[in-house]
Amino acid sequence: MNVPLLDLHQQTAALRDEILRAVTEVVDSTTYILGPKVAQLEQEVAQYCGAGAGIGVSSGTDALLMTLMALEIGPGDKVLTTPYSFFATVGAILRVGALPVFADVEDDTFNIDPNKMAEMLAADQQGERRIKAIIPVHLFGQCANMGSIMALAQQYGLPVIEDAAQAIGAEYPVLNNGSVHWQKAGSMGLVGCYSFFPSKNLGCLGDGGMVVTSDQTFAQTLRCYRNHGAQPKYYHSKIGGNFRLDPLQAAVLSVKLPHLEQWHKQRQANSQVYHELFAQAQLIDNPIRLPKAVYAASPEAAGHNHHIYNQFVIRVPRRDALREYLHQQNVGCEVYYPVCLHKQECMQQYGSNELSLPIAEQAAHDSLALPIFPELRREQQEYVVECIAKFYRS
Ligand SMILES: *Cc1c(COP(=O)(O)O)cnc(C)c1O
Repeated sequence: MNVPLLDLHQQTAALRDEILRAVTEVVDSTTYILGPKVAQLEQEVAQYCGAGAGIGVSSGTDALLMTLMALEIGPGDKVLTTPYSFFATVGAILRVGALPVFADVEDDTFNIDPNKMAEMLAADQQGERRIKAIIPVHLFGQCANMGSIMALAQQYGLPVIEDAAQAIGAEYPVLNNGSVHWQKAGSMGLVGCYSFFPSKNLGCLGDGGMVVTSDQTFAQTLRCYRNHGAQPKYYHSKIGGNFRLDPLQAAVLSVKLPHLEQWHKQRQANSQVYHELFAQAQLIDNPIRLPKAVYAASPEAAGHNHHIYNQFVIRVPRRDALREYLHQQNVGCEVYYPVCLHKQECMQQYGSNELSLPIAEQAAHDSLALPIFPELRREQQEYVVECIAKFYRS
């Protein structure tokens, strides 16, 4: 059997006619930059995420970069973030000339640990107070601990930029006067950054992204930065860039967005199946740790996307050998991420190799993502678990 890590054929085939109609509309309209398709998607995504406004951009990376530019964060500044994420998170910080401050992650969620953040913020307060923003990442489709993160942000008066590239539609149980209300990833900080890279839960046919915010003034600033800081046209009080989302991609995304909740549900069902199969195979906890949906136990979690499983990441001993074996058995799997951000070669000029971030380093050593895409079939999951069982029994 062949089980790819991600297979977009079925999802694309099911929507093919609708997508082609939407694309044709853009082609015939001759509006190829921004225009009504981008504006429509911005409204739809903002509404879906519970934010006041959306600003369609060229990628998730540019969503982060543009936000930092618009906050005028630059040389001499620092940004508090996680050492365990896709490179774009830290790349955006470095590209504006700022430096990252890393707080280690939580062992059970891979997300930034608010206790470690509190330590870094307290230390910064004793020193030069250079931390100017916080970028939590909602890794693999589960929100970081936003209750504690927003409390810290408020205490220190810092803007929070949610890197929700992997988590569009994921929900977090916000505690408010003793009652819980569920809020979507990206709608809790000053801004949320999404990516429409094809492997994300909502993917386009190329690159695309969006920033959402409920701060209408900042939304205007972001729109200005998206288009070279021009306001009005040809008058530049700020240095922005070309960060525009293509209307072709926006049109495709408007076709796909109404299906997103169903795709989340299918991913969640696939996670459930893995839990059953790994339990039957008696592999859970020893030797394999399955991803933990930490908010699943919160009140009324049932109807909510406490985890959207952009990736289903297990923790395993002899990870690299298992990966090799699964590839031989035609099972797609991948390591997210093999090298922590502070261990990246380009970071060494900042001496970050000296940092001790043991939880993130352990995750880089033993995490492995299994196929979880919505159309994955039960037989395929049975095969994946069979292969893993064979590997550990031989
Ligand atoms: C995918 C991703 C990005 C970057 O998004 P692109 O659209 O590929 O530029 C940023 N952060 C995280 C956590 C991501 O997973």
